[in-house]
Amino acid sequence: MVSESEINVNSKVKVVSLFSGGLDSSLAILLMLRQNIEVHAIMFLTHFGCDIVDRSSCSQDPYPVAEKFGFSVRLSHLGEKFVEIVKNPKFGHGKNMNPCVDCRILMLEEAKFVMEQIGAEAVITGEVLGQRPMSQMRNTLNLIEKETDLKGRLLRPLSAKLMQPTIPELEGRIDRELLEDINGRSRKRQMELAEEFGLEDYPNPGSGCLLTDPNYSSRLRDLLKYSSIINFDTLNLLKVGRHIRFSPETKIVVGRNEEENKKIEQYKQPDDIVFEAMETGSPITILHGKATDDAIEFAARATARYCDQKTQPSVRITVTHPDHGDVIEVAPIDNSKLAKMIL
Ligand code: SF4
Repeated sequence: MVSESEINVNSKVKVVSLFSGGLDSSLAILLMLRQNIEVHAIMFLTHFGCDIVDRSSCSQDPYPVAEKFGFSVRLSHLGEKFVEIVKNPKFGHGKNMNPCVDCRILMLEEAKFVMEQIGAEAVITGEVLGQRPMSQMRNTLNLIEKETDLKGRLLRPLSAKLMQPTIPELEGRIDRELLEDINGRSRKRQMELAEEFGLEDYPNPGSGCLLTDPNYSSRLRDLLKYSSIINFDTLNLLKVGRHIRFSPETKIVVGRNEEENKKIEQYKQPDDIVFEAMETGSPITILHGKATDDAIEFAARATARYCDQKTQPSVRITVTHPDHGDVIEVAPIDNSKLAKMIL
């Protein structure tokens, strides 16, 4: 029979960590590693975040830092579950379309599942008391703990000393004295810790979630209101081009440069109509939805408006339907007509 004190000494403590690749979640992990605790990090991906395989994107590739400091990391895409909470968050949206409280709950529920699977003792996060208005106030942190049924097993190492001790702290499995008491928006202490741990090259705080972006949010609201097709392509299309709501049934998207033209073609739906300024090859425009004669003419004129021949009285536009193609000649549309419809 092994005594409790022997358990403390002999078995390695494991925790599961939410990991964004940012400063706070990295430091939370490093505070665990400092105590020789085994960390299993999870980086959650959604349709609204950065693309970690895109070097120009805002998020971090998690593997170099995991390798450098010695913890494991797995990627987990929240897919449809996340889209559902964006549409109908139990605890509402923030300033834009960000359902931060529901988002934290969902991620923690997933992490809790892993915690139970691997026999870890707690889920840790990089949350800092009082740092963010919606999801990191004390009552919200308590609410999140209650909703996830992680009572006593949810540890925020950066603010732990300001909160009730968790079970592994009470049992002496995690040393509370080696945790932090950070409160508020200043990042001074985090910068000191980063230096102490030799942590470099982390993204700026707040970057990464498109749902906090007002422009993206307004396009997303429009998509959720008018379209039944919510998928990888339709959500990614919101990131590029000028979006024009022509009517409840019709949307037009015009590329702003060559890169966006390519993405627009990549994300279009099979029935979308494609427009292209014939002489200049750019922009590419797509019309999604009901293709009335008026809508087609409007999309062609918008294409003409944004091409290099926009000062000409008329411009030739190729119109590619799913089953045939046309060429039409139209006058570039007036800015004042477009302005009212741009999302
Ligand atoms: S900002 Fe985005 S990713 Fe972060 S908690 Fe809010 S909804 Fe989730």
